[in-house]
Amino acid sequence: MSEPTLNDARSSALYAEALRVLPGGVNSPVRAMRAIGRDPIFVARGEGPEIVDADGNRYVDYVCSWGPLIHGHAHPQVVAAVGEAAARGTSFGAPTAGEVELAEEVVARFASVEMVRMTSSGTEASMSALRLARAATGRETILKFSGAYHGHVDGLLAEAGSGLATQGIPASPGVPAAATAATVIVPWNDPDALLAATEAHELAAIVAEPYPANMGLVPPADGFLELLRARADATGALLVLDEVITGFRVARGGAQERAGVRADLTIMGKVLGGGVPAAAYAGPRALMERIAPAGDVYQAGTLSGNPLAVAAGLATLRLLDDDAYARLGATTERLAAGLHDAAASAGRAVQVVSVPGLLTVFFSADPVRDYAGAVACDRDAHAAWCRALLKRGVYPPPSQFEAWFPSLAHDDDAIERTLAAAAAAFAEVGP
Ligand code: PMP
Repeated sequence: MSEPTLNDARSSALYAEALRVLPGGVNSPVRAMRAIGRDPIFVARGEGPEIVDADGNRYVDYVCSWGPLIHGHAHPQVVAAVGEAAARGTSFGAPTAGEVELAEEVVARFASVEMVRMTSSGTEASMSALRLARAATGRETILKFSGAYHGHVDGLLAEAGSGLATQGIPASPGVPAAATAATVIVPWNDPDALLAATEAHELAAIVAEPYPANMGLVPPADGFLELLRARADATGALLVLDEVITGFRVARGGAQERAGVRADLTIMGKVLGGGVPAAAYAGPRALMERIAPAGDVYQAGTLSGNPLAVAAGLATLRLLDDDAYARLGATTERLAAGLHDAAASAGRAVQVVSVPGLLTVFFSADPVRDYAGAVACDRDAHAAWCRALLKRGVYPPPSQFEAWFPSLAHDDDAIERTLAAAAAAFAEVGP
């Protein structure tokens, strides 16, 4: 039987044009697909669980804009909300009622949050949360985990995951040595290293993705998040949980609700803006009122709390009831079990790791507990599997160091087609 092929003539032509005017042909590195050894696919439109590319090929999409699209592409209520907001004016640089409503929705969901400050990207939210943590503690040093990504903040671009892991850049040129001098890096899921680092350094903050998803999905070992909380309390550091991916996704109140661990400050994004640029940092009143103009810690943004983003975010959050989370959890479990079985049938050793709404297939015979484990995966085989999926109408995150984002639009039909394609792709790659 001949293997399927992908007609990507139009994408290729667009990529050639793009390379002339966009560095690497893209506006963010991972979408260039270099980690899986092919050229990027240019997207024309999205519908529910699917995207359609510039050549007219359809794919079941598991990137879903890297997380914001928890209801899938072009959900009618989200599109209508954005359209209505746009008709009233796209930006004012003055407060609007919607910002208050969105903040109230966030406060209602997160037990650790009384106040919210919106930004336009997760990077900005991380940067600003760290500024606030430093101001509140009068300390400078930040502890982060290897393989965790918190946006392209200078001081956090050390052993970061996502595109940096994908491209093997240990830290970026252009980052001043002084910026990373105040960053301490500890392996994820290593209690001894954490203990030693929190004893050796006076920390302003421990910053963590509670379910790290930028080295692939590597959940915390039993007790590890509780240990972060305990070490922060014992040393006077703030626990800053980056829920840009997990917030409003793994549970109504994010990873904090699911794991039962409370953050001092929470970084949010993605689902919060429903696919329009929005992010936030949030926490208790006593900390948040340090932010200008209530307090002395400066942070601002021309488009912060943008009406289109607020409308998309509100429409997105209001569709997320208990039933939605139950469905997303069931969909993710079905997908994970099916991918596991498909790999087993082809004799390929993988680790399928999932929490509701997130999943990674690690090409590894051993469980992946940390960044070193993720780096040790068979990335060539993973890349071949991703290319084989694309040919069969499934669009996976094109890197071993990312998570799949199933959405509420991924119905039985989408999952069945995915699993059939996955089985054929495993068979093509072989054991
Ligand atoms: N934190 C986490 C956990 C992320 O996954 C990301 C982006 N993928 C960011 C922060 C940065 O967000 P943004 O890309 O909106 O700047």
